[in-house]
Order: sequence, then structure tokens, then C-alpha cells
Amino acid sequence: MKIRNFVAILAAAVLFAGCGSSGSESSKTTSEGSSQGSESSQTEEVKEEKIVYEVDQTKPLIALTFDDGPNTTTTNDVLDKLVEYQVPATFFLIGNNINEQSGETVKRAYALGCEIENHSLTHSYMTEFTEDEIKAEIEETNKRIEDLIGVTPKFFRPPYIAVNVTMYDSVDQTFIAGIGANDWDDSVTAEMRADKIIEQAKDGAIILLHDAEGNSMTVDALDEIITTLKDQGYQFVTVEELFKYKGVELSPLDSRIYTFVEAQN
Ligand SMILES: [Zn+2]
Repeated sequence: MKIRNFVAILAAAVLFAGCGSSGSESSKTTSEGSSQGSESSQTEEVKEEKIVYEVDQTKPLIALTFDDGPNTTTTNDVLDKLVEYQVPATFFLIGNNINEQSGETVKRAYALGCEIENHSLTHSYMTEFTEDEIKAEIEETNKRIEDLIGVTPKFFRPPYIAVNVTMYDSVDQTFIAGIGANDWDDSVTAEMRADKIIEQAKDGAIILLHDAEGNSMTVDALDEIITTLKDQGYQFVTVEELFKYKGVELSPLDSRIYTFVEAQN
């Protein structure tokens, strides 16, 4: 157990160094990290990657988001598309899907510059839960994400977008919904998914898609979604950047859920 944690810390340190945002914590493991060089060819490959994008705030902004990961297959396929087009995204993770293997994918996403947020622990209808049960879902998922990347999620996407007052009162994170395409339904083709997202797109929108294992039609839809919206002038940003650029304060204590983030005034 201790050895595994130590290896995880080393891997995280290598990744942090690779994405150019190495915090003070990572400096003390740098020497050990480099001595592991021969063993970590995979992580060295990862640290080459970084999504580079500039944002013109005078143009419409939009945020790509993905639910129900992480996994080592579809999540990585999505990341490959993001690298190909150099656009960032935000991933809302199910805590119970985080394991040693899928954790590597989460670290890859974070190192690329993607944002990692909370989509509950068990993906249940939390409207049926008590306050304590709701808090346990959020806290355990936060903890698993913190253990991987050292950052605490600020946003929460409720499973099935099912919310009630107890949930708003129990969760100190900003609630996020989004424009969707029923992309969990196998009868909805990649082209239909792309068309549905593109027709709902507008400045400040949050796009809600799924990187659940095997959801390859959503991966296929990304080519058209990204190229069409880019052609229309959209600037892709993470969810936190969307709030920042629109001048909207996070509202962890409010009873509201965002599909569009509109500039104030
Ligand atoms: Zn979900």
C-alpha cells in the first residue's frame, strides 16, 4: 500500500513537471523522479502533450464537457481528439470509476490542461438520498480526484441532472447541466449527435457529452462538432474559464444549475 502510494506521488510529480505548472510540493520529489527515468517511458511520452489554445474573449465562448469516465479506452480516445484539434475540455468523473488504470487517464487529461470535476461516487438518483449520503458521495469523489491530481473539484454535475433542495443545501460546489444530444442512446448516430449539439450552441453554452466506455459514436461526433463550431468562431474553454471570462462568480451556495454562463449586466 505504501509503496503504491509512493509510486503514485512520483508519477504525479513527473506529470506536474511536464505541464509546466509544477507546484512547490513537487520540487522535493524531483531528484527521485528523474532517477526513475528508465522505468517511466510511458509518463515521459505523456508529458510531451499539452493542449495549447488562445482565447479571444470578443468571440463566442463554449465549453466541451464529458461525463461518466474515467476509463482507459473512450476517455483516451476523447483526449486524442482534443489533442488533434487543440481544444480543452472538462471531465466530470464518477468516483467509483477511478482505479489504478483509469487514474492514469485522469492524470493525462489534467496534464493536457483539461479540468477534472465531480459527477458523484455511485451515479445514483441522489434526490432519494439523505444529506449525509449526498455529502459522502461528493467528499469521497473529491478525495479520489485530489489523490490523483492534487486539485479539489469546484463543480458538480448531478447524475441524470436530478436535483432537489437537499442536494443544493448539502453540496458546496457550483452545479452544472448542459446542452446534450442523448449521446447515451445507441440509436442516436454520430451525425445526429453532432447536429443536435451544433443547433443548440450559443455563446456561453456548456456542451454535455459522455465518455462512458464504448461510446465511440460521441468520439466520432467530435470532428464535426469541433470543426463546425470553430468555423463559426467559437472559442473552446474549460468550465472554470467560462465563468471567469463571462465574469460570473461561482455560486457553491446557490440553488441553481448552469447550462449557459451569461455575462453579467
Ligand atoms: Zn452521468
